[in-house]
Amino acid sequence: MKDKLKIVVLDGYTLNPGDLSWSGLEQLGECKVYDRTSYEEVLDRIGDAQIIYTNKTPITREIIEKSSNLKWIGVLATGYNVVDTQAAKERGIPVANIPTYGTAAVAQMVFAHLLEICHHVSEHSNAVKNGEWTVNPDFCFWKYPLIELAGKTMGLIGYGRIGQATGKIAQALGMKVLAYDNYQNPGLENESMQYVSLQELLKQSDVISLHCPLLDSTKGMINRDTIAEMKDSAILINTSRGPLIVEEDLADALNNDKIYAAAVDVVSVEPIQEDNPLLKAKNMIITPHIAWAPKESRERLMQRAVDNLKSFLDGKPNNVVNL
Ligand code: NAD
Repeated sequence: MKDKLKIVVLDGYTLNPGDLSWSGLEQLGECKVYDRTSYEEVLDRIGDAQIIYTNKTPITREIIEKSSNLKWIGVLATGYNVVDTQAAKERGIPVANIPTYGTAAVAQMVFAHLLEICHHVSEHSNAVKNGEWTVNPDFCFWKYPLIELAGKTMGLIGYGRIGQATGKIAQALGMKVLAYDNYQNPGLENESMQYVSLQELLKQSDVISLHCPLLDSTKGMINRDTIAEMKDSAILINTSRGPLIVEEDLADALNNDKIYAAAVDVVSVEPIQEDNPLLKAKNMIITPHIAWAPKESRERLMQRAVDNLKSFLDGKPNNVVNL
């Protein structure tokens, strides 16, 4: 690339709210970092840059077609559904994601959600601080059913990196693991882990956790019909992408005791909209898309974002998802 390399980070704030450094990227070219960028601002901000990074700013076909200097798109995340990868492919623009930075953190978050449902640690602690233990006639009390996981079945939809990491923790807790994936590696099966069909997984699992990407084929996969297959006692966890679930159907199922509880780190529209039906659903935990965000994960993400661009500049592009 003969021109001076111009790099634009469209929405850098969540990766680096101030506790990390952009110096790795700054060493590779003239780097402009925006905290966040609205759709109306995108084209102007890209300008004649050859390199852009997005985390959740949509990069549509129109943006790709109108950004005439664009040579490479980096996604500051694992899920790359915010980029029209086909439109980029048609212009020969590689889109690179960061596949592995947050595997452990996301798997850990599944259990932060699940253990909260099983023990309600924060609500019990608040009750104690509000004086409820002090006036309790017995040495203990609990305000919700308490659930033991050992011996129960964890169903993982999508058994890639995060699905497998989640499965290992589930096994360590004494759970049996069932996995549904359209790419199966029989070498991963063992005494407490088996691949099954989606229908079998929905029927047999006590806990169901989503770990497949958001694609046309997976959008809305958890809906009235698939929920109908689940146990009434089922717990559903989603740390993958919000649109995998038809939220209206999940809220109805929770409010009508069709399943027991759910926890999500992601929703269909983020930030969550005031009228999202999950906000008022029974036995529902919602966190604001933070599974990826421990500092250790973000440090790895920053480093790999720089490495991805270096590999492209060296002519050996890495982690390209569309070419
Ligand atoms: P991965 O590519 O390693 O695994 C995804 C798996 O899903 C693959 O094994 C793939 O074969 C499988 N799959 C694809 N289509 C499927 C289908 N129709 N049915 C069943 N399985 C299907 O990805 P990963 O690193 O495990 O990440 C999984 C997802 O987690 C990402 O796509 C991303 O959306 C999400 N994620 C969320 C956060 C967060 O902060 N909440 C952070 C990182 C990743």
